[in-house]
Amino acid sequence: MEKTILDNATILCPEENGSFSVIDRGFLVVEEGVISEASEGEPDPSQQEKARMVDSSNLILMPGLVNTHGHAAMTLLRSYADDLPLMQWLQEKIWPIESKLSEEHFYWGTLLSMVEMIRSGTTTFTDMYFGMERVAQAAQESGMRAVISQGLFGLTEMKHQFLNDTEELINRWQGACSGRITVILGPHAPYTCPPDYLKEIIKFSQDKDLPLQIHLSETRDELKKHKIEHDNTPVQHLEKLGLLERPVLAAHCVHLSSEDIKILAENNVGVSHNPGSNLKLGCGIAPLKDMLQAGIKVGLGTDGASSNNNLDMFEEMRLAALLPKGLHEDPTLIPAPLAIDMATRMGADILFQEKLGKIKAGHKADIIGIDKSSPRLTPLHSITSNLVYSATGADVKLVMVDGNMLMEKGELLTLDEEKIKFEAQRSVDQLVRLVND
Ligand SMILES: [Zn+2]
Repeated sequence: MEKTILDNATILCPEENGSFSVIDRGFLVVEEGVISEASEGEPDPSQQEKARMVDSSNLILMPGLVNTHGHAAMTLLRSYADDLPLMQWLQEKIWPIESKLSEEHFYWGTLLSMVEMIRSGTTTFTDMYFGMERVAQAAQESGMRAVISQGLFGLTEMKHQFLNDTEELINRWQGACSGRITVILGPHAPYTCPPDYLKEIIKFSQDKDLPLQIHLSETRDELKKHKIEHDNTPVQHLEKLGLLERPVLAAHCVHLSSEDIKILAENNVGVSHNPGSNLKLGCGIAPLKDMLQAGIKVGLGTDGASSNNNLDMFEEMRLAALLPKGLHEDPTLIPAPLAIDMATRMGADILFQEKLGKIKAGHKADIIGIDKSSPRLTPLHSITSNLVYSATGADVKLVMVDGNMLMEKGELLTLDEEKIKFEAQRSVDQLVRLVND
């Protein structure tokens, strides 16, 4: 693998405590997929030998964004059903069309999501869905880093098939593409996975030493039904079953009691906060301030493109920073650096990816470059404020994952965008015809 030096750059470096330092004019050396140096000034002539030099004078370099929750192929269902309550949206619109999805849909839908994610600076994405072989294949081709799970549903006779599919996915893809692909377990939610099935999944997770991701406490309605059935909260239910003793990533966590927050903190559960999806589906606003105060690690996620409806992590950073300010009438809450930290280092942490989210020797070279000359970044009084409060994904011009360039000067290098948009449209047209017949 070649050595790459990104020079003349402004570099935003995360510190251990979640703050950021800035190198005004410096360079990054990337070798074998890993950052070997981040320094001020210019590289020595000897360092430049046999290196590919990338002039980054117009760029702010920072760690790539980590999307901690999503369903990539749902880009095909973007704007298919909007402005409906979650359960009605799922039961009447999403689940019927999802039942018709084929391998081809998973493939083109995932690639379409990757075009959008790379273009807006996401370097790692999380997926819990179906057709995961095709998702892994798309990750292999795009060069993105992926944390993927076969969705596990216990209310169907397919429930054991889903576990077999997970096993196959692990055998074929765990650690594939130089470690870019990670497979974890994906029990969909407490309301779709009865206790016995969850116990099987916990056992599987122990035997294979795998973390889990699960939707948790997303709507008030879910809590009401859960209370009638189990006389506790979904969080307490998972703790009682022993699931929280495993490494867990919980998505949403919108409706939490103070006891729930304590349980999540004590069990070191990582939370994926999805403000855009929660707002759009009318689920509510997650207690971000309380979760962070309790010491819970929180990353950001877009959720699927059918409930957001885009995959732009800049929008999630902005929402995560703005919502608590309005909700608690306190503009000091979630300052911009914290929002960036959630979208990078903390997000990587809750995805069990220790060597991500930092600009530091020995860490993975997952880096993005943001266009300093964008009107949205001018003037540049504060880089972190501009990134959170005014930039959008469209300001990202360079994306590197594992030392490989996926986008440079705004051009996608690993994916054929026109072909992917064409094939995604063609396959979704066919899908809609199938549902309407
Ligand atoms: Zn979801």
